[in-house]
Amino acid sequence: MRGCYVRRMSPIVVRWALVGSLLAALAGASGCATLLSEPRTPFPRGTPLEAPWALNRELLLPETRRILIVVDWIAGPRPDTAPLDALVRVAARYGERAARWIPREDWSGRLEASTSYVFVGYVGQRIPGFFGLSYTEQIKGKKVHVILVNQERHRQWRGVIPEGRSETTTLVHEYGHLLGLPTAEHGYFAEYPSFFGGAHCVSPTCALSKPRPRAILYGVVSAVFRRRYLDDYCEACRRAIAEAKAYWRRRP
Ligand SMILES: [Zn+2]
Ligand SMILES: [Zn+2]
Repeated sequence: MRGCYVRRMSPIVVRWALVGSLLAALAGASGCATLLSEPRTPFPRGTPLEAPWALNRELLLPETRRILIVVDWIAGPRPDTAPLDALVRVAARYGERAARWIPREDWSGRLEASTSYVFVGYVGQRIPGFFGLSYTEQIKGKKVHVILVNQERHRQWRGVIPEGRSETTTLVHEYGHLLGLPTAEHGYFAEYPSFFGGAHCVSPTCALSKPRPRAILYGVVSAVFRRRYLDDYCEACRRAIAEAKAYWRRRP
């Protein structure tokens, strides 16, 4: 009988079962994401407040023929291919053109005008305190985008979230920074009034949320109870992308 079974369970097991049920209910609650959202903070003076904000036109409008992701294995375990495939899907979908990844050894070394480049470097754990890092730089007069991944750091969470899934979140998160997300209406600076570390999305449902306690709670509960992982941007970020594209298309 169910009642006898519960009585025979130790108090600790009962407590964890209750906590589990509560978290499962929390994961399913539609208001949960709102409850666990971070409060907005001001953005640096001069931040654009309307479409197209500071979103990255090159990666969002198909003005080059393809997006090429060049993968460099610098240190740590060999890169997992599934997260790179997920990044390719995100780049192709938001970039509205073909995208693919190749190992650095297979890259010709030429920077072609018809191609947008994203260089992904796997660095083990050489970036203290970060899962990943991204920036844009000029090489031989061409703008290229760079993502660095601390793949060792994802292993610390593998008991809760499969390593490949958290690595996917990191790649999509860093790609979101390269896209210029989030916009000021739904972003915050974790160190405000310092702008160190860049803007992140207030919504814990977004791959661009910062791994802070509330977002981690939401992410872990979603992963454990719903098998849902952060591999895309939230509704507000997607809406901003759509509005920026509409703006550019109205004013080519
Ligand atoms: Zn970030
Ligand atoms: Zn978002």
